[in-house]
This record gives sequence, C-alpha cells and structure tokens, in this order.
Amino acid sequence: MQEGLLIGGRWEQAERRFPVNNKYSGETIAEVSEASLDDVGAALSAAELAAPVMAKLTCFERSQILLKTVELLRSRKEEIEKLISLESGKAVKFSRVEVDRACDTFTYAAEEAKRVHGETVPLDASASGRGYFGFWVRRPLGVVVAITPFNFPLNLVAHKLAPAIAAGNATVLKPAELTPLTGALLCELLIEAGLPDGAINLIQGPGETVGDALVRDRRVAKITFTGSPDTARIITSHAGLKRVTLELGNTGPVIVSEDADLDLVASKCALGAFYNSGQVCVSVQRIYAVPSVIEELTERFVEKTKQLVVGDPLDDATDVGPMIQQQEAERIEQWVCEAKQSGAKALTGDRREGSVYWPTILRDVNASMKVMRNEVFAPVASILPCDNFDEALTQADQTDYGLQASVFTRDIDRMLNAIERLNFGGIIVNDTPNFRADHMPYGGNRISGIGREGLRYAIEEMTNIQMVAIRRGS
Ligand code: ADP
Repeated sequence: MQEGLLIGGRWEQAERRFPVNNKYSGETIAEVSEASLDDVGAALSAAELAAPVMAKLTCFERSQILLKTVELLRSRKEEIEKLISLESGKAVKFSRVEVDRACDTFTYAAEEAKRVHGETVPLDASASGRGYFGFWVRRPLGVVVAITPFNFPLNLVAHKLAPAIAAGNATVLKPAELTPLTGALLCELLIEAGLPDGAINLIQGPGETVGDALVRDRRVAKITFTGSPDTARIITSHAGLKRVTLELGNTGPVIVSEDADLDLVASKCALGAFYNSGQVCVSVQRIYAVPSVIEELTERFVEKTKQLVVGDPLDDATDVGPMIQQQEAERIEQWVCEAKQSGAKALTGDRREGSVYWPTILRDVNASMKVMRNEVFAPVASILPCDNFDEALTQADQTDYGLQASVFTRDIDRMLNAIERLNFGGIIVNDTPNFRADHMPYGGNRISGIGREGLRYAIEEMTNIQMVAIRRGS
C-alpha cells in the first residue's frame, strides 16, 4: 500500500500523517502522509519541469504508456477491487465494474492520444487573407491539477489523469482524503508504465489547505474537479485566470410513461438509486410516474429494493455497503425524518446502523423537502405521481441541477419532447440517469458543472488551440 507523496518521480514520507479507515469496520488500514505547503510547491515545480518533457513525447509514446497502464491495472485487478471496497465502502461486485471501467477509460485515452489534431482554415475566405495558408493544432496546457472525490476513487481519477496524459500535460493529483489509497496505487502503476518523472505527482491531505494551495498557484494552467457545487464555488473564486472543468451533482430524475416496461424500470431504479449507497453523481433520486402506472411501479420497485443485500462490502453477495462516514448516514436519516414530519411516508428502509443506511423509498413528498430539492447523495429515492407525461417533464426539470435525466418510454414523440424540454447534459432513454459509457461526453448544465469529460472531450478541454497563419513569400 502506497502511503507516501509522489514528487518528481520519488515517493516521499511526510512528518504529518492521517489515518484511512475501513469504511465498514472502522478499523485503520493505513497512515497516509499529509502534504505540507512546501510539498505542494515541490510537486508543482516538478510538474512544471516535466511539462515540456510530456509535450515532446510522441503521441505513439503517450498511447503506449496508457496501454501499459491498462495491462498493469488488469494484472493487479483483485488487489485494486479490494482496496476500493475497503477505503470507500463500495460493494466489491461494483468495485469490479469500476476497475473494468478504468481499463476502458485508459484504453480510450490511448486511442484518442493518436487523434489529437487540428484542421486547415481557408484564410483566403477573408478579403485580407489572400496569400495566407492557415491551420490550427492542439497544444498541451502545461500543468493540470486534478482534485477528485471519494465515490469512484479509481475511475474518476482515471477520467482526469488519462486525458491529461493523452494530451501531453503534466499533472498533480489530490485525491479525496477519505479515499487516498487507490489514487496512490494508480500513480504507482503510471510510473511503472513509463510516465516520465514529474509527469504525475501525488499530493495528499485536506481540500481546504493543500487542495486550496494547488488551486491558487500561478503555475497551474487548469483545474479539473469532481465534487460538490459548494466546493466548486470556492475553487472558482480562488483559481483566478485558470481553466476549469467542474463535474458536480444532480438530483437524478426518472420519468415513467404509461407505455414503459415496469419490470425494467423497477429493477433499473433499484440498482440506480441504491448501488454505492446512492453516492453517485447520477444516482436515481426523483421518480415521476403517470397515474396509470404508479401503483404497480411502486409495488415492483419496493419489492426489488427489499431484495438488495445490505452488509459487508467485501462479501460477494452484498449490493449495498456502508456510506462513506457515519455523519453522512446521520445526515440522510435527519433529512428523511424531516420529510416524514412534513407528510412523507417511507415504504421501505428508513433504518440506520452506524454508517449503514438501508435503501429507502419515499412517497407523498413535495418539492420543498430537502430529499427533493437537494442532491441526496445517499440511498434514498422518492416516487411521485404526475397527471401526465408533459407534467412530469415540467416537474423533472424544476431543479437547479442538470447532469443527466432519464425517461422510460417507447413512444418516439415522448422521447423527442423529453430531449427538447429537459435542460440536462445527458438524456438517457429506457435506462436510468446512471448510464455512462466512459468515452461519451459527460457533464452538467446549470449548477451541475462546467465542461465535459469523456476522453475526446476532456482532451479538448486540456489543450489549447494554436492557430498558424503563414504568408507566402510570393
Ligand atoms: P464530496 O462531498 O463529493 O466529497 P467535496 O467537494 O467535499 O465533495 O470534495 C471533493 C474533493 O475536493 C476532495 O478531494 C476534497 O479534498 C477537495 N476539496 C474540498 N475543499 C476544497 C477546497 N477548498 N479547495 C480545493 N479542494 C477542495
């Protein structure tokens, strides 16, 4: 287990350390070095030195490093799955999916690395352009800072490091302090895969101190962040003139029309609302159903949810493990309690033991309750009646967020209406908002974010367009 900081290709131990615990048993599994502000400065200097080295690697070389990383991830798959489950509490069957997806992410990055190119510009389309030949190319930005959350400690790190490498940047990574170990292991693999010294640096510690120091530093060209809108507001206000990509939250709406396959909706929602204890940016949160289906859907959804196995994330049978911290489980317990005081009813779940919160389905909720208005980021979903499909679209869109929304219908006009009316970065038809293929453009509208991830799109945001205009001599 890698407990140090990675600066300029060397692993270093800091004097200050912080504990990382098994999120199910609470037992300490590692003591990780906490970076000082000097360490932050050293990591940025190392990245600054490595940036021109990265820019000079051929795209073939960058692609090879990314492919080698996939090979190494595969060779240590079981160890990584276990580590994800230990430090994040994710059920191991889903940690397995996360490792597979990270392999996909690096593979797509290896492919995209070879497609980072520009195009010609017909400068003679302008009256003053006669005799000029024009084209543009993409250049790396230099130093990219990646700040990541706890809920996908491998694949969300991969979504930042892989495109940064493909684009030819040097990076400083700061993983969430609750899940620092998987990111550290990935850095180890990147070095083993042949990434030059200083091209990846790892800083560990609290966001408010070391994260903030990274955000403020003038050597940084870009910050790529996944986390909460509140943190994103602080980051953008401290970043100054830097590029940012921000992947924030959602209040996962699902709209169920009268022609939907209810068994499919019920099983997709039971998985989509509760896996990883609902701590997923695109988790199912608000399910709007038309009158002719709501009773049957509710019944089937409750039935599928009751079948979920709650318990030790390392057990293969487990579907739902603990939340990341007991205080998070207490927070959601409180939100559900407040909802019930205002008339909501819990149809299943509504039970907490330590940091485990049972998958909970609410009905009789209203738009002013926290479980509706805010991102729950917990295993709680609400089911709401709507007069008709049109009304469901209106209500689903009444949110400050806008990452992904979903509709279940086989009717093409309903689909097209949903696509037109929902102000979300992604619209998923006949699956939940959770759907994500790692190469597709992914990102939010409104307070859900700025920019898009998905390898090709992330690479675009991690490069500058450089225009070249050549005047002919004669
Ligand atoms: P979440 O609730 O999903 O963990 P946060 O926004 O709290 O989301 O944290 C996401 C990441 O942002 C973590 O790595 C955290 O350490 C970091 N972070 C928190 N506060 C700041 C800050 N002020 N500046 C930079 N990074 C921060």
